[in-house]
Amino acid sequence: MKYKLIGKIVFNKDISQYKEKVFEFLKKAENEILKGFKNLDEINYKSKYEISDDKSIKGEINTENKSAHIIFYRIRKTLAEHIGKELHIGISSLEIELLNINFPLEKLPQEEISIPFIDKININNNNKTCSIEINKVDKNFITKGNVERIIKRIKEKIDRSYYEGKAEYHKILYESPRKEIKIKDDPTIEMVKKNWIAPASTKGKWIYWPPATNIFNTLEKIVLEELLKPLGFNEIKNSNIVSGEDVWIKTGHLEGMPMEIYYVAEPRTRNTKEWEYFIDLIKITQEIPYDELKNMIQLEPLKGLVYAQCPSIYWAFKGKTISDESFPILLFEKTTNSFRYESGGRHGIERVDEFHRIEVVFIGEPNNLIDIQKKFMDKYKKIFNDILEIEWRMASVTPFYMQQAGDLFKEETIEGQLGTIDYEAWLPYRGSREESEWLEFQNFSIVGDKYIKAFNLKNQKKKIIWSGCTGIGLERWVAVFLAQHGFNIEDWPEKFRNYLDKMPSEIKFF
Ligand code: ATP
Ligand code: ZN
Ligand code: MG
Repeated sequence: MKYKLIGKIVFNKDISQYKEKVFEFLKKAENEILKGFKNLDEINYKSKYEISDDKSIKGEINTENKSAHIIFYRIRKTLAEHIGKELHIGISSLEIELLNINFPLEKLPQEEISIPFIDKININNNNKTCSIEINKVDKNFITKGNVERIIKRIKEKIDRSYYEGKAEYHKILYESPRKEIKIKDDPTIEMVKKNWIAPASTKGKWIYWPPATNIFNTLEKIVLEELLKPLGFNEIKNSNIVSGEDVWIKTGHLEGMPMEIYYVAEPRTRNTKEWEYFIDLIKITQEIPYDELKNMIQLEPLKGLVYAQCPSIYWAFKGKTISDESFPILLFEKTTNSFRYESGGRHGIERVDEFHRIEVVFIGEPNNLIDIQKKFMDKYKKIFNDILEIEWRMASVTPFYMQQAGDLFKEETIEGQLGTIDYEAWLPYRGSREESEWLEFQNFSIVGDKYIKAFNLKNQKKKIIWSGCTGIGLERWVAVFLAQHGFNIEDWPEKFRNYLDKMPSEIKFF
């Protein structure tokens, strides 16, 4: 990696009469900083300075493998001490006029890449390097680490162009016994016909009438009785609205999934008087005055509806030191719905914009979590094979949001430990079991210390702590169950029927 920086040190006084002295202190400051580096010959530091006007010095710094911009800012501090003490001169600002970085690439981009903040980008295909140039960089930009993240983003975009469109990593870990399935109906269509469900007032959402709700409740009961209670999990209730800054920046959802989030706006004011014009417009026109509405609401600070339930749970632990006796932490949440703008992908109840999910979160030592994973695998297997009697399989996958967030797990670490296991089921109405796409109806993830670090969770004994979650998507459970068993209650598995309350009668429309 090669860096070239052209910058200016601006002093608070005329330095022309101290020229020699200032240059001497500058060299001294440089030497003191360089002394701190072990691999000086690898850094290959070169610099030259000249007076640019009475109050400033212009310089060019060239380095390798160590950021010239970081060194430049360190020089400021040391130089300021020397010239402050000896010459009573201060430094009023440090300006970077140009920063040029040349770094090696593992892969060459397959298309032109565009990146904010940089003024020039040049790819050298022969020696596989990328050269970027940024003009006028301010201090905040440097100290916040933005330059390093620009480079990371370039590499990420190149990587993405190679795996985009490719199938996700998918390795089947288990396949259930085959089931003889006699129906091929799309359960959503049947449910609409039978008045079990009706479209809600906005796209991709449903009203579940009593018969459908009864099935949701039955599945919830099964999850509680067969899985969560025996494993010692306790229920919590979460908030429906999530902070962009405090939660989604930290979890990576805002960089990974901004196109799927449902954003929430607060009123700009609670003052009735200020809303009067808006109210008048509605009273008179009976239409929504959108232009006026835009003035009356605010998007800052950013908020949105729950995308996944667990990030807000981690947030609630933020910065806390958890007592030893509280481990492992075993929680679940089923009050908040999840919202995702699925757009063209929406289908039936299996891909909706609002879904009901039981989210289970566990935090503990790695061994605890591996143990929990084993228990869940056993219990899930029992539920799917013996109670729901469905045809399903389990596969180890790399979740898309992690690819999106540029945070790929290494393939070897996925199986059985870190990473995600998808549970998929055959939907006969989509086609044969061999050729059709199976539906992911839930998953199980151990994410290592990703969220523990992101939210700075500590523990009494400073042990290594991991976390994980498993999201049980109830719409998808219902879709799978009905797609494989149909609507004839007598055909439903006996153990499922033991959990089922008497089916409420359908509301009849005349
Ligand atoms: P997909 O690849 O199908 O979009 P996903 O990878 O986005 O799913 P996750 O973020 O892993 O899903 O969410 C976990 C669970 O939430 C899924 O296994 C599923 O049960 C449920 N789920 C996710 N998106 C939807 C949706 N649009 N409609 C209904 N359930 C969903
Ligand atoms: Zn989760
Ligand atoms: Mg999705």
